[in-house]
Amino acid sequence: MIESFEQLKLQINQNIRRIQAEIAIAAAESGRQADDITLMAVTKGFPAGYAAEAAKCGITTFGENRVQEALAKSAALPNVRWEMIGTLQRNKVKNAVTVFQRIQSIDSIELAQALNNAAQTQQKQLEVLIQVNISGEASKHGVSPDMALRLGETIQSLPFLHGTGLMTIAPFAEDPQTIRWIFAELRAMRDTFQAHFGASWQTLSMGMSHDFTAAIAEGATLVRIGTALFGGRIKM
Ligand SMILES: *Cc1c(COP(=O)(O)O)cnc(C)c1O
Repeated sequence: MIESFEQLKLQINQNIRRIQAEIAIAAAESGRQADDITLMAVTKGFPAGYAAEAAKCGITTFGENRVQEALAKSAALPNVRWEMIGTLQRNKVKNAVTVFQRIQSIDSIELAQALNNAAQTQQKQLEVLIQVNISGEASKHGVSPDMALRLGETIQSLPFLHGTGLMTIAPFAEDPQTIRWIFAELRAMRDTFQAHFGASWQTLSMGMSHDFTAAIAEGATLVRIGTALFGGRIKM
């Protein structure tokens, strides 16, 4: 039980150190450098104070899945990176371009074009990732693997978008080893993207609280961690 804000701060601090240590071990086990893996703090459902505390502990990249929520938190904490990791509705595109340094959830040509138009209006270069539905689960968003390269071509042709890699959400598995193939497939696809479109398509955003070590073993360069840093979130 968290009893005071002081205790909460201590807890967040300890959680970050622990996750960083686990990232370092997973990286070493697969012959990688911990520095090559970004720890994104996913603050959706948590107050801005939690994000501020994580920033004090050295976290520089934050993930949100709602534009409204990100607007408020990024105003409170402007000097860090905010990235969109949730489904983006078309009527939120303009604000999304204002708030986020990167959109990780592009899954259609229409959304890519809408983001490019908004970025042009704001004269801003916008980094994007393509979200790929590797598992094929109907409940997961993301472009199907056989459509991903076409979407990549579209993004390459849009002057205000800068394609920087791929993202996926794996289904929950009691034993994350059983879903490692999903991370391996995203990595193979990323390699294909780099061969087609260039080295800038480098980011592999995969792995969450319960499966990030498996994702790192398969090459994740960014892990998106919420509950393991901040505890259980209130369902919204
Ligand atoms: C909520 C969320 C996360 C973080 O999940 P945890 O299990 O809390 O670590 C990561 N990625 C996406 C896309 C999310 O929506």
